[in-house]
Amino acid sequence: MAGLLGLGTVTSPKALFASSPRDVLVIGAGAAGLTAGYRLAQRGIKFRILEASSAYGGRMKRDVSFADFPVPLGAEWLHATPRVLNSIVGKRAKKLSIQTKGYKRDDGYGFWDGSVLTREKLGAQSDLKFVNSSWFDFFDAYIVPSVKRNISFQAPATAIDTSQERATVTTRSGEAYSADAVLVTVPLKMLQERRISFTPPLPKPKLSAIDRAVFWEGFKAFLEFEEPFYPTYTDVKVTPDEAGQHSFYDAAYGQNSRRNILGMFAVGRAARPYLGLSKAAVTRHILRELDEIFDGQATPRFRKIITQDWSGEPFIGGAYVQDHESWKRVRELGRPVGERLFFAGEAYTDGEDWGAVHDAALAAKRVVDQL
Ligand SMILES: Cc1cc2nc3c(=O)[nH]c(=O)nc-3n(C[C@H](O)[C@H](O)[C@H](O)COP(=O)(O)OP(=O)(O)OC[C@H]3O[C@@H](n4cnc5c(N)ncnc54)[C@H](O)[C@@H]3O)c2cc1C
Repeated sequence: MAGLLGLGTVTSPKALFASSPRDVLVIGAGAAGLTAGYRLAQRGIKFRILEASSAYGGRMKRDVSFADFPVPLGAEWLHATPRVLNSIVGKRAKKLSIQTKGYKRDDGYGFWDGSVLTREKLGAQSDLKFVNSSWFDFFDAYIVPSVKRNISFQAPATAIDTSQERATVTTRSGEAYSADAVLVTVPLKMLQERRISFTPPLPKPKLSAIDRAVFWEGFKAFLEFEEPFYPTYTDVKVTPDEAGQHSFYDAAYGQNSRRNILGMFAVGRAARPYLGLSKAAVTRHILRELDEIFDGQATPRFRKIITQDWSGEPFIGGAYVQDHESWKRVRELGRPVGERLFFAGEAYTDGEDWGAVHDAALAAKRVVDQL
């Protein structure tokens, strides 16, 4: 059904954004889209979030049945101080009851160079684990309640037209929505694959940044073992260094759990060997790798596995923008186009930092403040 479901009536161009837009369409319900909705709600601005899949959270997805703690299939660590959680929620927040845990210098660290496992101490680490919680649970508790009603699921945006007084977004089913402004938060891969058409076309510098930024492939797995045989964290050599990351780590670290859950994280070039394989094939592959690194200790202790192929997710298409991306390119990705089209999310920031949940959320917060 094609229709124009405006969220309000038409304004004169002069009045547009003299104060703030009266309504906003947010594309994507991940960390950035949810934060944007939350901040818009606080400011009394009408909004609708169009989400392509049937769930909110995007790359914060977690599983609650594999272990006795939430298993983060995407974002896992807090790569910032816990204060950032308060900045996402803002002043009006109820008191946060999220617990995090850091690593100890003496925790075990391993480095596998392809033939030898070197063991040492982990040393200083600033990343934090959520304790029996996750990025998803944080959003679910503090952000989602004020935006849930405004999310339309299974509504992938296919066209965005900002050439008229009111912006229009059309979804795959042909349904059309209009608002004063549109905020795009979809993973960069979606724009690289031209899944959304823009009228007028995006400016050349923006298109060039979209096409030249490297969006890493991504894969995660969690394996349960009868006993632990691994250090807290093990890095596997990736060549060249900046082409990705491949690690095995104690995923139950800091959790109130007696289960032995080993996480596997592979992004960039390192993820490629795992993509598109069947569960049986990927299990064999990982166990073979672990047996090689840890002298055959993995296979006899193996119980079960859960895997997440991010590159194969139809509305995500990978992990995140590479760590070594040019900050100028990221800044270009985050720049608004005209007065009605805005970008925020993991790949669309001010160029100071990118890739993490808090970067995506703070970018969305910044855009709403600018609006
Ligand atoms: C393997 C992996 C490990 C990670 N580890 C960490 C970590 O430890 N710590 C950390 O901070 N971050 C981590 N990240 C990054 C973090 O997950 C992301 O930065 C963050 O979740 C991105 O949020 P976002 O809102 O920008 O995008 P997303 O979460 O991708 O949300 C975008 C949403 O847009 C939807 N969408 C796509 N196309 C359309 C369309 N056409 N119309 C409507 N909706 C659409 C998608 O379905 C999705 O829900 C990791 C990511 C991966 C994949």
